[in-house]
Amino acid sequence: MFYILGPCAAESREQVLETAEQICSQLSAISIPQSAFIFRAGVWKPRTSPHTFQGAGEAALAWLQEVKERFGMPVATEAATPEHVEAAMKAGVDYLWIGARTSANPIAVEAIASQIKNSKSKNNKYPLRGVLIKNPVNADAALWLGNIERLERTGVPVTAVHRGCNHQPCWAMAHAVRQARPDIPMLLDPSHMSGDAKQVPALIEKGAELGLDGAMVEVHYQPSEALSDAGQQISPEGLTAALKDHFVERPLTLKDRSAERLELNWLRAEIDELDDRLWDTIAQRMDVSRRIGVWKKAHGVAPLQPNRYQQIVEKLKIKNDALKMNGTALGEEFMARMWELIHEESLKRQE
Ligand code: PEP
Ligand code: MN
Repeated sequence: MFYILGPCAAESREQVLETAEQICSQLSAISIPQSAFIFRAGVWKPRTSPHTFQGAGEAALAWLQEVKERFGMPVATEAATPEHVEAAMKAGVDYLWIGARTSANPIAVEAIASQIKNSKSKNNKYPLRGVLIKNPVNADAALWLGNIERLERTGVPVTAVHRGCNHQPCWAMAHAVRQARPDIPMLLDPSHMSGDAKQVPALIEKGAELGLDGAMVEVHYQPSEALSDAGQQISPEGLTAALKDHFVERPLTLKDRSAERLELNWLRAEIDELDDRLWDTIAQRMDVSRRIGVWKKAHGVAPLQPNRYQQIVEKLKIKNDALKMNGTALGEEFMARMWELIHEESLKRQE
C-alpha cells in the first residue's frame, strides 16, 4: 500500500514545507510507517481558466528537494510536457504523474514517455522511481490501458490512478483496467474523484474495499486558503483521522481481501454507480418534462398528446430490439410497466 499526500499545488516554500512537516508529525503519531508515503505537489497546474493560479513553476522544484532532504519523503509532481519531465528529473523528483487532461491526449503521453527515456539515459544521478498515469477525463478504459503501455516502454514502473470523471467515480472503467492489468498497481484519487473534502474519507475506505493499492490524496495545511482545489483538500489532521479509522482501528481482514470478495465489491460499486446515474437521469427527465409543461400551458396544448405517446412507445420497442442483438434486452412487460410509471409521474409535472 502506498499513499501520495500533499497539496494540489506548490504555492510557496512555506506552504510546501509546513504541509510536509504536519503530514509527517501527524502520521508518526499514529505509527503508520513513513516509508509508505510520498509527498505530492503540482508545480505546473493544468487549470480550466487562464485567470486562476497556474502553479509556481520551476522555482517550486527546489521546495520539493527541500522536503526530500528534511523529511526523507520521496516527492512527486505532475508532468504535462517533455520540458516538465526534463526539469523535474534534473531536480531529483522521484515520481511523475500524468494528469487526466494530458492522459486524454495519446500524442502528449508519447512525447512524455520518450522524454522520460531520454532523460533517464542522460541522468543517472536521480533515477525516476515511478510514473503514475491518471485515467483520462473521459471514461475511456482502452485509452488508459494504451497509455499504461506507452509508459511501460520507458522501463520505469507504472502505476494507474483512478480519479474518476466529472467528479464521479467510473468504477466500470477502473474495473476493466484492473481486470486487464492486475499486475499494475492502482491507486484511488478521492480528491479529484469527488471534488469534495467531506467525501474523501469514505472514498479512501471504498478504495480499500476494492483491493486498490493505496491513494493519492490532496492535503493542505490550510485547505480553505488553497489557491487551487480548495474545496477538496483535507488538513493533515483530517488525513490522520481518515487513515487511523480505516487502517489502524478497523483494518480489513484477509477474508475482506479475498479475490472472490473483491469481485463482488467491484460489481456492487458498478451497480451503485449505475443506480446513481439512473436516478439522476430520471430526475433530469422529469425536469425537462416540467419545462415542456410550461410551454404547453403557454400555447394552450393539453398535457397528454396520444400521437407523441405512441411514438415514444414505438421508439422503446426499436430500442429493445437493438438490445436483443447484444443479449441485454429487457422483458417487454417490465419495459411497459416502467415506462407507464415514468410517464405517469411526468404528466404530474405538467398538471
Ligand atoms: C492533480 O492531481 O493535481 C490534478 C490536476 O489531477 P487531475 O489530472 O486528476 O485533474
Ligand atoms: Mn488538484
